[in-house]
Amino acid sequence: MRQAYEFEKTYGELILRCSVCGFCQAVCPIYGLTRRPALNARGKMLLLQEVMRGEMGLDQDLVETLFQCTGCASCEVNCPSGVKVTEILREVRREMVNTGTCHPVFTGMNEILAGSNNIYGETDPPEYLEGRKVNEKAAYVYFAGCVGAYREEEHTEVTLKLLDRMGVDYTLIDEVCCTGVLEDVGYAVHGSKAETLVERVRATGAETLITGCPYCMRTFTSRNAYIGLSEAGVRVVHISQFLSTMTFDVQTDLVVTYHDPCDLGRHAGIYEEPRRTIGRIAPRFVEMEHHHAQSLCCGAGGGVRASHPAHSIGMARRRLEEAEAVGADVVLTDCNSCVHNLSNAKLRRQKLRITTVPAFILSLLEGEERA
Ligand code: SF4
Ligand code: SF4
Repeated sequence: MRQAYEFEKTYGELILRCSVCGFCQAVCPIYGLTRRPALNARGKMLLLQEVMRGEMGLDQDLVETLFQCTGCASCEVNCPSGVKVTEILREVRREMVNTGTCHPVFTGMNEILAGSNNIYGETDPPEYLEGRKVNEKAAYVYFAGCVGAYREEEHTEVTLKLLDRMGVDYTLIDEVCCTGVLEDVGYAVHGSKAETLVERVRATGAETLITGCPYCMRTFTSRNAYIGLSEAGVRVVHISQFLSTMTFDVQTDLVVTYHDPCDLGRHAGIYEEPRRTIGRIAPRFVEMEHHHAQSLCCGAGGGVRASHPAHSIGMARRRLEEAEAVGADVVLTDCNSCVHNLSNAKLRRQKLRITTVPAFILSLLEGEERA
């Protein structure tokens, strides 16, 4: 008799619940780009059903499909059967990694993090630390995350300038990666890194941790390894939530649209705070065709930017086409990963300015962004 896989015990019933209705197909960004049915949630669930019937093994042949998912959760919010696709895939990948099967990019990512405090293996501290409070006492800690620290350093720098200008009493810390992404690709959060991070935040005496990265926020608020933050009474908020309570005495005449990051929107339910802020500074705000819970993924998540860069860029281009279609001059978002991917995908002919909400506010305050 076939020996059941571990994932079947918890998720077998949920996987069988997939009625093959295909509602997820229309909203899957990878399917939208590739038109490959195996890559949307239905295709993935059908493959897992075959595995559960013993018709195929959970092995290398499935890496290309089961490890290619941005974790955007578009399928989940549109699934009438309540199939928790991202949770299922996380568990399946964990089992694959435990039995020695993984996408090589993610194996590499785990190895880099074993010896580095950031996901890129960078050794120099970010330049924006210079001249700023680091590991000191303050009311707030600002946490940039790896992308903000090493790939979108300028966006972090201007966010900090905005906080400086607003007189916010914050400190930075010597950051270590939250390692949350490892769980999505079959590995585990690094307990020692989480301990270090919690200890460094607690040492500042801050009551609030502001994250620039929606994924870091999710990690800090949902993973057990970070329970020490809430135990110490530290509230975790995303920069979009923090800014939504502030007023800025500036406005733009430019046509502005907003890209909902999957980690902030579908995964954390934060849709209105960024729009509240943007509404005050951009009277000509327009929504793209897909927005809020139906927003199109930028293609960066779930490690896909690293594992399948061409597909990742293709997904971002589809998103930018939507921004062009509504006549936007500016595409705002509240995630450094999204800004990074959308910017990389921008075609030379496209005049769109792609930036974060805090960076755009600062540019208005400094008078750089006149219509
Ligand atoms: S989470 Fe997103 S990318 Fe993954 S299968 Fe669902 S819709 Fe497709
Ligand atoms: S929407 Fe849900 S039930 Fe329908 S095919 Fe997709 S995963 Fe299966």
